[in-house]
Order: sequence, then C-alpha cells, then structure tokens
Amino acid sequence: MKIAKRDIVEGPIELKGYPLVELEQLFLGAGERKYRAKQVYDAIYIQRVDSIQDMTLLPQEMRDRFESGFRTQSVKLLTVQESKDGTKKFLFELWDGRAIESVLIPSEMIVDGEHPRRLTLCVSTQVGCNLGCVFCATASLKLARNLTSGEIVDQFLQAQKFSDKPITNIVFMGMGEPMNNYDNVMKATQIFTDQRTKMVASRRTTISTAGVIPGIIRMADEGQLIKLAVSLHATTQEVRAELMPIAKKYQLPELIEALEYYYRKTHKSVTYEYILFDGLNDTLADVKRLGRLARRMPTKVNVIPFHEIDFALPEDFNMSLKPSSTEQFQWFTDALRAEDVQVNVRSSAGLDIDAACGQLALSKEGTGQ
Ligand code: SF4
Repeated sequence: MKIAKRDIVEGPIELKGYPLVELEQLFLGAGERKYRAKQVYDAIYIQRVDSIQDMTLLPQEMRDRFESGFRTQSVKLLTVQESKDGTKKFLFELWDGRAIESVLIPSEMIVDGEHPRRLTLCVSTQVGCNLGCVFCATASLKLARNLTSGEIVDQFLQAQKFSDKPITNIVFMGMGEPMNNYDNVMKATQIFTDQRTKMVASRRTTISTAGVIPGIIRMADEGQLIKLAVSLHATTQEVRAELMPIAKKYQLPELIEALEYYYRKTHKSVTYEYILFDGLNDTLADVKRLGRLARRMPTKVNVIPFHEIDFALPEDFNMSLKPSSTEQFQWFTDALRAEDVQVNVRSSAGLDIDAACGQLALSKEGTGQ
C-alpha cells in the first residue's frame, strides 16, 4: 500500500492523525477496502492499541504488510515528572529526535453545584516557537518545525496511559503557536472531538493563540465548535508589544476587532489569558482598561500568576519580569470582578517541576540528553 508522506518527518508513515474520512480515502486510493480504514481507526482511538500486530481484526498478512510501511507511535516518552499537586509533565521524543512537552493537570470544576474532577491535557503544536514572547522558555528554542496531526493526537494517547481517569479537557497551549500550524491542529481536533472516538467534547477543547488574527478569522469563518482563548497579558498596545513581539504585527485594536468578528459569527465567548507581572500590567489603570475590553462582548479573564523560571535562564529571557505579590494578585482579581468581569484564577500547576511551557525541552537541549 502506497501513501504519500504528509510531512517532512522521515521514516515509516504515521497511521495516527488522519480523520476517519481521510483515512478511508487513503485506503481506497491504495486499493484497500474502505472498512479496513475504520477498523484501523477504531483500533487506534477506541481500543488504543500500540502496535499494528495488536490490530487483531486485520488479517495477519495485512498486519505484516502494514508493519513495514507504517508506524503507530508518533511520540515516544522520554521522561515524566510528577508534581506534589498531581500535575504530570511529559517529555516526548519525535521521530527525528526532537523533543516536545505535554502537561496533564488535574483540577476541580463546578458543574450544577457539583465538583467533578477535571483532567486537562496541555498539548504542544510546534517544536519550539518563533513568536518570541519574552516571558516564555519555549521562545528561546526557536521554531524547528510544525508537529504533524499524528504527533498532536499521540500526546493525548500516551499521556492518558498515566491516569486511570479520562482526560476531560484539551488546551492547545503547550509549545508553539497553534494558529501557525492551523491545518494539523484542526485535523487533530477533528479526531479528539469525533463522536466515534469520544476523546473529549468540543466545548472542552480550547485553542489558545498569542493573537494571530488570520487564524481567529479562519476559525470564525469555518464555524469551529472548539473554544478560543487569547493571550492578552497587557491592556495597552505598547506593553503588549514589549511582552509579545507578535503584537507589533497584530496590534491590539485590530485584535479586538477580529475577536468581535469571531463573536458575531460564532456567538461564542472568548477567554483572555492574563499573566500578572509586577508593576507592568497590574495597576488600577490596567484593571479599568481590562474591564472595558472584557465588557465589549461575552468574555472570561483567566488571571495567571507569573511562573518565574529558576533554572539557567535562556538567552533572551527578560530578567526584569517579576511576579506580582500575592496581595497585589488578590487585589487585582477582586478589582477586576468589581468591574463586572468574569474572572478565573489559574493556579501555577506543577511549581515544583519544570512545568512552565518549554522548560523541560529546553533542559534537554541544554544537557544534550
Ligand atoms: S508563549 Fe506561546 S506563542 Fe509565545 S513564544 Fe511561548 S509558545 Fe510561542
């Protein structure tokens, strides 16, 4: 069976990462029966087998044939660190020897007065990132390449093995800017949210962008059902551009216009991510401006404590950035709520492990492991 390679990744072709319809087309195009694609798809995402030999519905002859041309594993676990708070951080190796991270974060949520457990997987979408946010460890890894859709879905399948509770939420908030790998992210999302795989619900899947406007517009025009979060981190164009160089290209007023367009098209609210930095974005003027921005359409604001990077600092890391004090953090969130804004406080999960985005992969690069 011959299938064209989808990406720059060398070696046997990945079987993971094809939405069912695409897998069926590939099988048909290669002279295989359509129902075999469904059997392979179910084996990967429902039975969650690890090898082609474990796909026992396929005849032995077919398994042997597939084994020479395909691989079922797209990411290989190198290390897992577990925090006292239950957060688990995974370092995965890719086919070409590069490394990425995923983080599994347990938390409570409130639904109709009940407190079921939420288990959120934060997945990476690129190897490194070229957006250069000054507070981010991944930024110093620079962009090596986009992840394939197989490498994105396999983070879920491998991470799930480390919990007896099902993963309930996915956030595209790991290494990389998901909008800059839009097609593969959406392919992975199709698999995650497929009724057949029952991996996660669309409403529990969130794409988080640094504010890449064309991706936001595309999501709006395509009527994507998953949720949208935007890393805002500042209430003025000037401070935002200082923290996130991409804000020079996609400026704050245009970003807000794009989000309003998104809301008009989808009627879905937007979440703003807001890391609090001492003296930079945590003043009364920021509260007022953020309140005005947040009230322009239905939004939530996630206020996040800055997770100081305490290992060998990457070259471009901005040493002057400090977290707001606990008192200032509390004051800021209270003041924002008083502005009639829906505020969630995000705790710093996994503070005792290298849980900040990019930290573990950076350590690997640094040590050459
Ligand atoms: S915060 Fe996200 S977008 Fe910014 S550099 Fe890090 S990975 Fe890239």
